[in-house]
Amino acid sequence: MKLSVPKEVAEGERRVALVPEVAKRLSPTGIELAVESGAGEAAYHPDSSYEEAGVSVSADAGFSGDVVAKVAPPSAEEIGRMSKGGVLIGFLQPLTAPDTVRALADAGVTSFAMEAIPRITRAQSMDALSSQATVAGYRAGLIAAEELPRFLPMLTTAAGTVRPAQVLVLGAGVAGLQAIATARRLGASVNAFDVRSAVKEQIESLGARFLELDLGLEDGEGSGGYARELTDEEQQKQRELLADAIGGMDAVISTAAIPGRPAPLLIIEDAIKQMKPGSVVVDIAAETGGNCELTEPGETVIKHDVKIVGPLGLPSTMPDHASALYARNISALVELMIDEGELKLDFEDEVLAGACITRDGEIVHEAAKKAAGGSTEPDGSSEAGGEAKSQDAEPEAPGSSEAGGEAKSQDAEPEAPGSSEAGGEPQSQDAGPEASRS
Ligand code: NAD
Repeated sequence: MKLSVPKEVAEGERRVALVPEVAKRLSPTGIELAVESGAGEAAYHPDSSYEEAGVSVSADAGFSGDVVAKVAPPSAEEIGRMSKGGVLIGFLQPLTAPDTVRALADAGVTSFAMEAIPRITRAQSMDALSSQATVAGYRAGLIAAEELPRFLPMLTTAAGTVRPAQVLVLGAGVAGLQAIATARRLGASVNAFDVRSAVKEQIESLGARFLELDLGLEDGEGSGGYARELTDEEQQKQRELLADAIGGMDAVISTAAIPGRPAPLLIIEDAIKQMKPGSVVVDIAAETGGNCELTEPGETVIKHDVKIVGPLGLPSTMPDHASALYARNISALVELMIDEGELKLDFEDEVLAGACITRDGEIVHEAAKKAAGGSTEPDGSSEAGGEAKSQDAEPEAPGSSEAGGEAKSQDAEPEAPGSSEAGGEPQSQDAGPEASRS
């Protein structure tokens, strides 16, 4: 079986689906590997590093494999280069890019979407949503620190004491937990809120405080461990309660999302008006519209003296590790597709069956079919995010889905309040909420 990797063509995409380190690990499986010249350049992997790892590199290698692995959804031109019956793996946006899905079906491509891999324990090593959200959450924490005209940690200096910055993280999924961990490491006093009460413990284990909002709801958890979409009334109440809390924050990092739906609106203009001048909002939900009313996706704007950053494509801003983690996800999925070095797709396997979007000229994924206008299934059939989520999905600490486990132990480990290392600053004197809890 031959696996090939093209150079990404989408604007701003710097990741690559295979890195030399993962190629070395795949070699013993008997898979032949080929990469298009320059494919890894933007992620700091020159052609020579692939060659050293036993990968053949050439200008026309990208679509030469039985299986083609990509990062971004394929362009029409790229789909045109796939052969009938060929296998394509990548982020395909099965629910929001119906034209791409239809084109893949029409071309007879057997496609697998990384977004649609069931988020079950067995498939954690293939969970690219988690690996890339880990990068996005980390970057969001750094952006908040960089944009803020204040220190994050408490400082005790000859010129007096600086109080730690108050940071609020909205949405404590994979990205949110990583943003919390990053802001804590930089010494901020972190508060976090999520509609799923199950994450309270995870938030607290990272040394942050769970923001209690009396929304009067049982729980915001829906199916498969994901949040449900709140009713209009619940959302309204949440926005009002949050506005007061946000007013006291130096930085807000918002990551709240409902799979397959636009991001919930959590931060209204009134909340921004209540923030101190110079405060910052980093809205990484900008990818799906934004959690803040004033977010302009892809832009940084200043409104009411508050800087509102709406970054897009955050994983691509850290292409080396984002690619390394993604390549491990790809490699774990590809290993599921081979038997003694030969391509063998077992559609009885729930991971392959759940992730498969098109096959034999048809759209076979129900939610994707519906999004493409080709299904009569009732509304409830559309799983959030298009994934066939299993009920045995378990809460996961940030970074824990990565096969290689790089830097995962630190993130997964509960962090004692005030213990985060910020260049040797005296965290124990932190007068923020952490200190008062301990
Ligand atoms: P996501 O990106 O879909 O959502 C981000 C967060 O926003 C979620 O925590 C969600 O609860 C929150 N949110 C939604 N609406 C909100 C609102 N109105 N106010 C505040 N917060 C809101 O989620 P994700 O990070 O991809 O995954 C969510 C969870 O799924 C994970 O934390 C984990 O528990 C579970 N998961 C399980 C596995 C597994 O393999 N077992 C893998 C990945 C994720």
